[in-house]
Amino acid sequence: MARYTDAKCRLCRREGVKLFLKGERCYSPKCPIERKGGVPPGQHGPRGRRRMSEYGQQLREKQKAKRLYGVLERQFRRYIEKAAKNPQATGEVLFQLLESRLDNIVYRLGLAPSRSVARQLVSHGHAYVNDKRVNIASYQVKPGDIVRLGDKAMKVVAVEKNWADRAKNAPKWLQRKGPVGKMVRLPEREEIESGIDDKLIVEYYSR
Ligand code: SF4
Repeated sequence: MARYTDAKCRLCRREGVKLFLKGERCYSPKCPIERKGGVPPGQHGPRGRRRMSEYGQQLREKQKAKRLYGVLERQFRRYIEKAAKNPQATGEVLFQLLESRLDNIVYRLGLAPSRSVARQLVSHGHAYVNDKRVNIASYQVKPGDIVRLGDKAMKVVAVEKNWADRAKNAPKWLQRKGPVGKMVRLPEREEIESGIDDKLIVEYYSR
């Protein structure tokens, strides 16, 4: 599948927020956003930046969400269409769908330092849902599902270190016992600290 492979920090700088795309570096003072603030990429930095139009704001929020979850346009549009069919608020359902992706759950459980590493672990066949191997990163985990990584992946140093470091920080809608995680319920909108305005995204796709 096509995937954006340019320097990941550029994406954060473009959006002006931390998207946590590089694992440990994102939590260290080496993160460019920590060092320079949200200065946009390019030789001349923020020079000559104009006030953003309404459309520009909607577009940037959509790009932020796509980049945060590592989802391409076609799939993102499918999430929006699915969310719009749900009687609940579209923005909330959109983020529930994104948060329920298997790669995101592996990341949120602290089993991978970033969503891209989590995606790689899943697509290489290291993830199990209810003891069945699942290698589809976009697989939708449901409340009650048990998620874990295989023994081989758990022996990888980065996974072990991350597991130990983040053991206490799993969100409330997930539950962990040792290296095994369970989705207790769907997350509520305020529990998803994305710093993204979902209303702007919904407006973008309703034009
Ligand atoms: Fe780079 Fe991570 Fe900082 Fe983003 S959050 S700028 S990916 S180090």
